[in-house]
Amino acid sequence: MRSSIKLSEKGKKFFTSLLILVMVIFLAICNTPKKDYKHEILEGDNYSLKIDYPDIKNKLIAKEAISFIDDRKKEFINSIKDLEKKESKYDFSVTYNLSSYNNIDVLHLLIFSYTGGAHYIREDKSYYYNNQTGKELTLNDLLASDDSLSKLSNLAYYYVMEYSHNNSLNLSEEMVREGTEAKLDNFLHFTFIQEGLEILFPPYHVAAWAYGEIKIIIPYNELREVIKEEYIIPHGNNNEETINPKVRSLDEFQGKKLIAFTFDDGPALKSTNKLLDNLDKYNARVTFFVLGSRVNQYKDTLKKAYLQGNQIGSHTYSHLNLLKLNDYDIIREIKNTNKVIKDIIGVEPTLLRPPYGNINKEIKSLADMYTILWDIDTEDWKLKDKNKIAENIVKYAHDGAIVLLHDLYDTSIEGALLAMEQLIKEDYAFVTIEEMIKLKNINLDKEKSYFSIK
Ligand code: ZN
Repeated sequence: MRSSIKLSEKGKKFFTSLLILVMVIFLAICNTPKKDYKHEILEGDNYSLKIDYPDIKNKLIAKEAISFIDDRKKEFINSIKDLEKKESKYDFSVTYNLSSYNNIDVLHLLIFSYTGGAHYIREDKSYYYNNQTGKELTLNDLLASDDSLSKLSNLAYYYVMEYSHNNSLNLSEEMVREGTEAKLDNFLHFTFIQEGLEILFPPYHVAAWAYGEIKIIIPYNELREVIKEEYIIPHGNNNEETINPKVRSLDEFQGKKLIAFTFDDGPALKSTNKLLDNLDKYNARVTFFVLGSRVNQYKDTLKKAYLQGNQIGSHTYSHLNLLKLNDYDIIREIKNTNKVIKDIIGVEPTLLRPPYGNINKEIKSLADMYTILWDIDTEDWKLKDKNKIAENIVKYAHDGAIVLLHDLYDTSIEGALLAMEQLIKEDYAFVTIEEMIKLKNINLDKEKSYFSIK
C-alpha cells in the first residue's frame, strides 16, 4: 500500500509546480481589485465619461446614489451609441458634494450630460440623512408643521427676488413665484450651513438658463416656524441682548371695560414723549403702530415706549398702499420694519396695521402677522382739535374697542388724555392689544382682521 503513495522524483517536481501554480493563481485572485466605485473614466469613440462615485460611510445612501448614477450612465450610453461622431464629443460627467451640519449630512450629485444640442443637460440630485442614525430624511421630515411649506415658499420667493435685485438680474417675478410655490419638488436641494438654510435652484427653475443656478440663504431666525427646532439650532450660542419691558399684573383690570388706544405713523419726538409721560396718570398702556422708516430716527423714544410696557406693532416701512405692491415689495415692507424694530427692542412685532387699513388674504399670508384695524376712527389728523377728538372717543367707547389715533400731533395726544380722564370715571381700563387679548382670553387668528376685540 505504501508504495502506491510514494511519489517518484518526477512526480515530486510536478506536484511542487502544481502547488506553486495554485498559489500564484490564488494570489492573483486576491489582488484583483473589486469593482472600484470611486472613479470611472472612459474614453469612447465619440464620447468621454467621467464619474466620481460618492465615497460615503452610509452604505444605504451610497447604494441608492450609485444605482441612480448607473441608470443615468446607461441612458447616456444608449442615447449616443447610434449617433455619428461629431466635432465635439458627447460627454457625461458626475461630481458630488458632501456637507454636514448638526446631525444632517447631505449628498448632492451633479450630473452633466451632453448628447448634442446647444448645451449640457444638468441634473441635480440630493440625499439627506441623519448622521447619527443613518436614516434617510426628506424635506417633509424636517418641516415643523402643516403650514411650514407655504411659509418656506414665501421666504424662498422673497430671498430669490432679493438676490435678483442685489445682483441686478431683473428675474421674472412670475417665474420666481412658480419656482418657489409651496410644493416639495421645488425644494429638492438644500444644505444647512452656519448662516442658515441654503437652497439651491438649478438652472431653469426660478430663472432662465443663462442665469445658471441660483443659491439663496434663509437665516435661521426666519425659520423658527418652518424647520423643526432640532435642525436649526446653530452651533455656539448667540448672544442676543434681551430687553425686558415692564409686565404689569392684569388682575386689577378683571371685570372692567377695556379699551385699546392705538397710535399710528410715529414715533415722533415731542408728541410721542408727551403721551408716554402722561400714561401713568390713567394707569394706561397703549399700542404704537410705528413706521419702519421713522424708527431709527427715534430709537430712544421707541425703546422708552416699549420698556414702559406699551406694545409696539408694525405700520409697515414706508406707508404704501399694500394692495398696489407686488409680493416682493409687500414682504420687504414687512420684513424691513420687523428688523429695525427688533434691532432696537430685541423682539419682532407680531401685530400689523396696514396703511389705510388696506389688506387682503394674500397680503395676510405674506405678512404672517396679526392684522389689527380699528372701530373708533377719531379723525384726529383732520380735526386737530383736542376736545372734538376726545368727544369722538368717549361717544363711541365700548368694551373691546380699538381707537385709531396718530402720535404725530399734539392735539391727538391731548385729545386721547382728555378721553382717558373721562373714561376712567366710567370704569374703563386702558390696555394694549396684547393685554386685551389676555384679559378676554382669546387667541388671535392670522387670517382675520380685528376691528375690536370681543
Ligand atoms: Zn398711517
